[in-house]
Amino acid sequence: MTTIGVLALQGDVREHLRTLTSLGVRAVPVRRRAELDAVDGLVVPGGESTTMAKLARIFELVEPLRERVGDGLPVFGTCAGMILLADRIEDGAAGQETIGGLDITVRRNAFGRQVDSFEEDLHVTGVAGPVHAVFIRAPWVEQVGPDVEVLARVEHGPAADRIVAVRQGRLLATSFHPEVGDDSRVHRLFVELVAST
Ligand code: GLN
Repeated sequence: MTTIGVLALQGDVREHLRTLTSLGVRAVPVRRRAELDAVDGLVVPGGESTTMAKLARIFELVEPLRERVGDGLPVFGTCAGMILLADRIEDGAAGQETIGGLDITVRRNAFGRQVDSFEEDLHVTGVAGPVHAVFIRAPWVEQVGPDVEVLARVEHGPAADRIVAVRQGRLLATSFHPEVGDDSRVHRLFVELVAST
């Protein structure tokens, strides 16, 4: 049976475990290297990226995470998880570390104070029909490298056209939180990615 871990240092771990379980995979929290070594795929949840990065350093997971990403582990990052997968951060905290792997530049808290959090129906490549996307102090993707496929953009309002979902090989990332609510189609995309590797 496919086992997908959720990095369980901080953030909305439980929601991801629940959504993954509903798709019929074994979903387990990951806090230690041995747990990381045992998974076929990993979700890096939303939360607070500087805190998560510090905890990953304290739990001695930064290098093991980089190694597994480098070896082709499928990883799905949502919101803070997208920031952790990004090779470059705009407006990051001083010295903020990432796991990296995705050839993107993200801007943290990009939507600004006025619209800290908002919801929008948008289209995600690979998912039939609109997805109700929930953004909470979300990043957007400022710039993508040549191997990165853009899967979704904001469709309305002042932030229209901003990139909010990407894929590069086995790495998938969204600015929004598909684990909130009961639509599991974006997670299904990831489960299929894990199954195909
Ligand atoms: N603003 C958070 C950060 O920079 C991300 C917010 C979230 O994951 N909902 O880490």
